[in-house]
Amino acid sequence: MSRALVDIRILQREYLLGISRAMTAELDLGDLLRLILKSAVELVSGQAGMIALVEAGGETLRVAAVYGIPPHLVDHFAPLVRGVPYREGREGEAFPELVNQLRRVAQDADLGLSQVIRLPLSSGGEVIGLIYVFQSGNYYFVEDAPNLLRSFAEQAAIAVRNARLYQQVNQEKQRLDAILEQSADGVMILDAQLRITVFNRALSHMTGWPAAEAIGCSHDDVIRWRALKTESDLNAALAQGWPQPNAAHLYVEGEASRRRDAACPTERDSLNLGITYAPLLDANGQMTDIIANIRDLTRYREEEALQKTFISVISHELKTPVSIIKGYAGTLRRPDGRWSPAVLDESLSVIEEEADNLNGLIDNLLEASRLQAGTFSLEIGDEISLPKLAAAVARKFATQSREHVIDVDFPADFPAIIGDERRLTQVLNNLVSNAIKYSPDGGQITIVGEVHPQHVTVSVCDAGIGIAARDQHRIFQKFSRVDNALSRKTEGTGLGLYLSRAIIEAHGGRIWFRGNSEDEPGAPGTTFTFSLPRD
Ligand code: ADP
Repeated sequence: MSRALVDIRILQREYLLGISRAMTAELDLGDLLRLILKSAVELVSGQAGMIALVEAGGETLRVAAVYGIPPHLVDHFAPLVRGVPYREGREGEAFPELVNQLRRVAQDADLGLSQVIRLPLSSGGEVIGLIYVFQSGNYYFVEDAPNLLRSFAEQAAIAVRNARLYQQVNQEKQRLDAILEQSADGVMILDAQLRITVFNRALSHMTGWPAAEAIGCSHDDVIRWRALKTESDLNAALAQGWPQPNAAHLYVEGEASRRRDAACPTERDSLNLGITYAPLLDANGQMTDIIANIRDLTRYREEEALQKTFISVISHELKTPVSIIKGYAGTLRRPDGRWSPAVLDESLSVIEEEADNLNGLIDNLLEASRLQAGTFSLEIGDEISLPKLAAAVARKFATQSREHVIDVDFPADFPAIIGDERRLTQVLNNLVSNAIKYSPDGGQITIVGEVHPQHVTVSVCDAGIGIAARDQHRIFQKFSRVDNALSRKTEGTGLGLYLSRAIIEAHGGRIWFRGNSEDEPGAPGTTFTFSLPRD
C-alpha cells in the first residue's frame, strides 16, 4: 500500500472515531440524523444524502433527514425510498434500477445527481433504516466508499437506536409528568431522604405551596401536621421500619397547616389531609422513592362534624329548654293546682329565661349559617363605649352567679369605637359567660380595657380550668367543644368563640387567648383578648 494511501486511511479512521464520539453524545434524534448524514457525505466525498427510517412498529420507511437537498425538493426523493426494496446482503452494490430511479428523480428536481450508495442502518440484526449518499455525474466517490460507509453505518445505527430509545423514554416521562400534573388529587414524589422531587398542581392549590418552592424542600417542611387522626405519621412509621416487611401502603390522616398567601389572608390556614404513601423499592429492597397521593378531606370532615354536632346540638341544647318550659307550663296548668303569686312569678320567669336561651341559640345557629353562606354583615351604628358595654355585661352576669366576682377595669381615656353594638355585646357576653362556665369553683373574673396607639384591646380574665395544649388549636372552630368532664356537664354549642372571632375579624380586629401561666399550657386560668382598630 502506498504511503499516501496509508495516510488517508489513518485520517479516515481518526475522522470516523471523531464522528462516532460526537454521535454517541448526541441524544436529539433530529440533530443526530443531520450529523450522521453530513459525516457520511463528507466521508465518501459525496454531494448529498438522505436517511429513511422504518416507522415505529411498521414496515414502511419514511424520509427522516436529508443533506444537500433543498427542503422544497425533498418530496421528489420519497419514491426512491419506496421504489427499490432493501436486499439483505446486497446493499452497497450498485443497483441499476436504483441508479435509474435516482436519475429520474434528480431530473425532475433539476439536480445533477447520478450515482448512489445505499446501505442499511442495522443494529442488533434489525434494520432500522437506510442511508443514501448521492453523487453528481462529474465527481467520484472515494475509493472503497461502500465499505467505508458500512463501518460508519453500524456505529450510526447504534446511535440512532439509542437516541430513539431516549426519545421514547423522554416522551413517556413527559406523558407521566403530564398525568401527574393534571391529576385531580395531590401527588408528590419523595426521594429516599424525604426530599420533594415532584409536586403537582392540585397539591400546590391544596397546600398553598408553589411547586417551584416545594421541590427540594423536605416532606416535613410542607406537610405540617397539627393533629393526627391515624396512629402514626410518615416519620413514626419509618422509625418503626416501614416500608418493611411487606412494602404495604401507609395511610396517614389528620389536620395539617396550610400555607397562607399574604395577598389572601382570609384563606383557611389548616386542612384535613388523607395521604397514602407508596414506597418504590429497588432490586435489593432499598427504598428509592415514595409516591404520595394526597386528598383534601376538609370539606368532608367539616360536613361530617357539622352533621354530628348539629344533631347533638338539636337533641341536647334545644331540647333542654323546651322540656323545662313544657314542664313548668304543664305544672301551672294542672287543674288541681293552686299557685301563689310568688310561685307563679318564679315559674313564669323560668319559662321566660329558657325561651330567651332558646332564642339565643337559634340566633347563633342562624349567624353561623349566614357566615357559612357568606351573607354575614355588620350593622355599624354610632360610637360605642366599650367600658359601658362591659359594665352592663358584668352587672347582668353578676346577678346570675353568686360564686363569681366580676370586675371591670378600663382607663379613663378609653376611646369610643365605631362598630356593631349588638354583636360586640354578643362577644363580651360570650367571653364572660365562658369565663363563668369554665371556672366552676367560682373566683375572680376581670374585664380589662387597654389603649394602644392604633387599637384598643379588651381582655376577659378568669381563674378557671384553662385550656389543654392539645385543644388550643381548635377552640375557635365551628361547633368545636373541648371534651372534658366539665364541658360534658355545661351547656354549649361550640359556636360562641367561632362567632366571636368572625365578629371581631369583621371589625378588622383579632381575638386570641393565653393561659394565665404562660409556661404551663393548660394550667388554671385563661385570658381571652380581642383588639379593635381605633380608626
Ligand atoms: P361553648 O362554650 O358553647 O362550648 P365556645 O365556642 O364558646 O363554645 O367555646 C369553645 C370551647 O372553648 C369550650 O367548649 C371550652 O372547652 C373552651 N373554652 C372557652 N372559653 C374558655 C375559658 N374561659 N376557659 C376554659 N375553656 C374555655
